[in-house]
Amino acid sequence: MFLDPNCIFCKIVAGEAEASVVYQDKYVTVFMDIRPVVQGHTLVVPNIHSPDLSSLDQAHAQHMFTTALNIAQAIRASELKCEGINLFMADGGAAGQTVFHNHLHIIPRYIGDGFGLRFPVGYGEQPARAELDRTAANIAALMTTHQLNDRD
Ligand SMILES: [Zn+2]
Repeated sequence: MFLDPNCIFCKIVAGEAEASVVYQDKYVTVFMDIRPVVQGHTLVVPNIHSPDLSSLDQAHAQHMFTTALNIAQAIRASELKCEGINLFMADGGAAGQTVFHNHLHIIPRYIGDGFGLRFPVGYGEQPARAELDRTAANIAALMTTHQLNDRD
């Protein structure tokens, strides 16, 4: 397991920094965000230092998402105010990432919570099918990072 001594999330994984831990196993650590959007805002992090999506291995990625589903179900069953849930990951500063150790946010949502995504001017206009097809082909041609074993 590689941990970066200068990374706050690595310190939490190692038990060397204070955190309100919900769950920990071989692959992931789950703890409360210290600046919650709303009460119940939880983070799932891999137990290995990987700064961004391109450095996140498949086993940790799968386990992060599976754990997030489990945590989301627990939040739904809890007494926390929760009418919906957002799962959110930021990859890179332009996407809003501020701690460069992968983390999956689980954010309980309710009508009037004040949180939301802001869409750009022009959002909602539908591009031509040919443009969508071109974009799909460009992305598909570069899908080599992870082997998707279940595609057949
Ligand atoms: Zn780290």
